[in-house]
Amino acid sequence: GATIGILGGGQLGRMLSVAASRLGFKTCVFEPGGDCPASHVANDHMQASYDDADALRKFANSVDVITYEFENIPASALDQLEALRDVRPNRRALTVSQDRMSEKAFLEDIGLTVAPFMAVDTLDDMHKAVAAVGTPSILKTRTLGYDGKGQARLSAPSDAEGAFAAMDGASAVLEGFVDFSCEISVIGARSADGQVACFDPGENVHRDGILHTTTVPASVSASLRTDAVLMTGRILNALDYVGVLGVELFVTPAGLIVNEIAPRVHNSGHWTQNGCVIDQFEQHIRAVAGWPLGDGSRHADVVMENLIGADMDTIPARSADPAVALHLYGKADAKAGRKMGHINRISPKS
Ligand code: ATP
Ligand code: MG
Ligand code: MG
Repeated sequence: GATIGILGGGQLGRMLSVAASRLGFKTCVFEPGGDCPASHVANDHMQASYDDADALRKFANSVDVITYEFENIPASALDQLEALRDVRPNRRALTVSQDRMSEKAFLEDIGLTVAPFMAVDTLDDMHKAVAAVGTPSILKTRTLGYDGKGQARLSAPSDAEGAFAAMDGASAVLEGFVDFSCEISVIGARSADGQVACFDPGENVHRDGILHTTTVPASVSASLRTDAVLMTGRILNALDYVGVLGVELFVTPAGLIVNEIAPRVHNSGHWTQNGCVIDQFEQHIRAVAGWPLGDGSRHADVVMENLIGADMDTIPARSADPAVALHLYGKADAKAGRKMGHINRISPKS
């Protein structure tokens, strides 16, 4: 059978490998780290750096198609991989979402709304941005941020210099703080022949910058849910996207504002594992393999809760709850702030 190459060996790569395996594919994971969550379940693990041209060539030659679980793949590695195999989702989806500035420009280009923003490279830029965007606001590194890392909040203009210093010289973007009533996200998929399917929007609650829970159904009107799904379809089509994409949105009285997009399976889509017949991981593998998408309609209400660090201690108690499905990533070291697993608590569809 065919082999799917996965760049990145974290929990997303692990769950993609499981889904691929269930569909009869083999998987090979490329990951610089050694004992990674995906290496325990993939057929093959290539442990090498993204600078290692020989390893990249060997990896590409050993698989039929390449996908990824994270968006920060170095451009030079992509050049080498793309020359040998299809990389899905495509390069444009990656480059657009690697940099918050290009991502916002793309979203505005296709008619979607983002928070007011301005690029910040120098302290002078910072003062101009604070004058234009105002406070409260959030300064974020343009690249490489996740789980709220690389961000500094400003409550008053006097916070400008401290926030700028916190970026440690990295290019940044100042964003106006959105006074949202809630956060939702849509997990959408697009197949190689352009079929689009979206899962029900989920409602997200963050804690210390990290996703804490996703609840479906989201407590928003049917028309907002439809808006969110249509926006996701617009993004997928504009990027000629193949695979699963996550779209994070702020709900405001003036409508939906896009926070960010992720060109991959997404933490806020983990509820689909127990709320749908076809979950986000299978949907992604189907798309990447050139298969038709599955039916992702929801058959249960679900609350997904991330297990971060010491939350793992609650596992014995939680696993006794018959409504709870456990998903653990096999990570040895339950460090503070580390995603160790998640649970899906299901109830009858409301
Ligand atoms: P992820 O792990 O989702 O990639 P990230 O590090 O890219 O996280 P963001 O999604 O930009 O971070 O921000 C994390 C959270 O901080 C958001 O989900 C939201 O709760 C809050 N936040 C970010 N930007 C804004 C904003 N402009 N206005 C209000 N809240 C915001
Ligand atoms: Mg992000
Ligand atoms: Mg986010």
